[in-house]
Amino acid sequence: MAHTIESVVIAGAGQAGGRAAEALRARGFRGSVTMIGDEPHPPYERPQLSKALLQSPETPIAYIKPARDWDEALGVRLVTGAAAVDCDADRRILTTADGGAFPFDRLLLATGTRPRRLAALDDAPLEVQYLRNVEDAFRFRRHIGARSRIVIIGGGVIGLEAACAAAKSGCRVTVIESEARLLARAFPGLISDLVAERHRNHGVEFIFGTTVSGGGSGSVRLSNGEAIAADLVLVGIGVAPSTGLAERIKLPTTGGIAVDACGRTAAPDIFCAGDAALQWSRCHGRAIRVETWANAQNQAIAVAANMIGEVKEYNDAPWFWTDQYDLNIQVAGDMCDAEQIVRGDPSRAKFSIVAMHGSEVVGALSVNAAKDMAMFRRIIAMNARPSRADLESPSYDLRAALKSQ
Ligand code: FAD
Ligand code: NDP
Repeated sequence: MAHTIESVVIAGAGQAGGRAAEALRARGFRGSVTMIGDEPHPPYERPQLSKALLQSPETPIAYIKPARDWDEALGVRLVTGAAAVDCDADRRILTTADGGAFPFDRLLLATGTRPRRLAALDDAPLEVQYLRNVEDAFRFRRHIGARSRIVIIGGGVIGLEAACAAAKSGCRVTVIESEARLLARAFPGLISDLVAERHRNHGVEFIFGTTVSGGGSGSVRLSNGEAIAADLVLVGIGVAPSTGLAERIKLPTTGGIAVDACGRTAAPDIFCAGDAALQWSRCHGRAIRVETWANAQNQAIAVAANMIGEVKEYNDAPWFWTDQYDLNIQVAGDMCDAEQIVRGDPSRAKFSIVAMHGSEVVGALSVNAAKDMAMFRRIIAMNARPSRADLESPSYDLRAALKSQ
């Protein structure tokens, strides 16, 4: 039976949780909003943790808003340092590890992801760290300030942005990647080569096709038997969705917390947004988790509206960026398993790659070409279909593809 919505509880005070709380108020919701986070901080943005925060000590933490504004300006009760551990979905009560009980009419799961652990290093007598929160970033920054020997496991976005910061600080950096190339999950080989070259120019060494089998005092042992000296090991081998709470509610959690286009889970009063949500992607042609800043923000804003009775489907194409040295690389949609068209001159490190399925643009990647990317995002969103010849021609104005819709 439908009931009046007087209270919303948000589990997880990160990008998605914070933006959802703001959006509830922006849409005029006057009931109670409580946001519960297990970190000691109010919601903050994570992209700078592997970029500016590592490279410039004066960079402040990018809080979504000052701590006191949650209560004073928005009337949102923010509970920090509290893990939500259980939920009675029938009685609609969320409980925290310290015994707190929070009744709700609607619950948003915004619990994000946590780093996948490398079990081989769990008990190694060696400094091993991950990079997910501000404390991790400060710790890594202290090490690179001491010009240490850094070994990075994983040649994905975390590993490479951290390698960039460490190399620029004068550290000796070795990246160990289990695949045959960098960034294999979401980037074409042309980009893997370009990024690898930039890193090598800054002294970073790569070891491909291997991983770590253990660690001794001051070194890691590779699966091929080789030992590499390390003052600090940073592990960046991907993330897993934080689904503990969803499992307590008995929601399906294989691959993430499954949601419909409105962010609703299998339980009608419980929603999910951000990294933890498993959602349909038209570009990929399957359900995926979208581990990006933009998704955490924009999906959460849409889902907040749905929680209070509006109907607002969210189906933005995934979009993210990475900054390494002089390269700003942006990716929209899906670049894998598609025909690829290069636009511009890769040797000038200012170009784009368009991914197509038949006549449909399903993905795009830009290198130092943010204006092209802005157009590609609109082309994908509108399902516009410029010809291959037009896409290949750098003189073709991408705005024309939108006008012909
Ligand atoms: P999170 O930000 O992880 O927030 C979830 C919060 O919930 C966390 O504070 C977590 O501790 C808390 N939590 C979990 N379980 C519970 C519980 N049971 N009870 C209470 N609290 C709980 N994306 C880009 O697009 N571009 C980038 O350049 C980029 N750079 C990044 C750099 C780094 C170092 C990292 C880690 C991520 C980066 N991302 C980037 C990804 C982006 O930050 C994430 O997609 C985004 O933070 C996801 O938001 P979220 O709210 O879903 O999850
Ligand atoms: P990624 O999945 O991007 O990269 C991890 C890499 O490590 C993959 O290439 C993976 O290969 C490899 N790998 C996995 N296991 C091993 C192993 N045992 N030994 C060596 N290599 C291994 O994850 P990250 O950790 O880089 O990023 C984590 C999260 O942070 C993501 O949610 C990401 O979106 C976010 N983030 C985003 C940034 C951005 O968008 N700019 C910047 C930083 C973080 P395989 O694919 O075969 O498993």
